[in-house]
Amino acid sequence: MKREKGLLIVLSGPSGVGKGTVCGALREHDTDIKYSVSATTRSPREGEQDGVSYFFKSKDEFERMIRDGEMLEYARYVSNYYGTPRAYVEEMIDKGHDVILEIEVQGALQVKETFPEGVFIFLMPPSLKELRSRIEGRGTETDELIDSRMTVAEEEIDLMDKYDYVVENDEVQAAVERIKSIVTAENCRKDRLIHLYKQLMEG
Ligand code: 5GP
Repeated sequence: MKREKGLLIVLSGPSGVGKGTVCGALREHDTDIKYSVSATTRSPREGEQDGVSYFFKSKDEFERMIRDGEMLEYARYVSNYYGTPRAYVEEMIDKGHDVILEIEVQGALQVKETFPEGVFIFLMPPSLKELRSRIEGRGTETDELIDSRMTVAEEEIDLMDKYDYVVENDEVQAAVERIKSIVTAENCRKDRLIHLYKQLMEG
């Protein structure tokens, strides 16, 4: 049965927990889910490509996009802006595709205001110690930035109860399987399907 609208899936959780890795693995498993590319004012890391990893923007351009209502949500995170361009997400959902956003917690809570029917998944590290060692292992941040990210991470974990699901990222494939099960179950929710079946039975 073809749904009228796709699901908006928000995958959130502290920086370094492995959202990018889990999303990448999910993408390999499930080619039907669409991935939103975020905009940011932070500088590209080695190997990151504009339009693939992020749309890299100047602060002025990012602020113009906010003013013109082009962002579905945005947040300032460790002195840079990050945001989800609205047009792609809305177009895909309207066409019936499921879309996943990989964003930090402030942005996820904004999306919850505008898309309460979204599916909010919090990706949890096995421990704070493990989280720090993952951020350190990435080798892309200075000690000062790692400390800032850890402070933000503890604040973010405090907001876990705003989410619908918590998935521990102990092992990437296991986390991917849990997320796929959540998406499958959410797509079978009565509230999302009942009107379609009523139309079918009546028509
Ligand atoms: P990073 O600098 O490590 O790529 O990202 C820093 C944080 O910003 C991560 O927690 C990442 O998930 C989050 N982030 C990436 N894109 C977006 C976005 O579009 N909106 C928001 N609110 N957060 C984002």
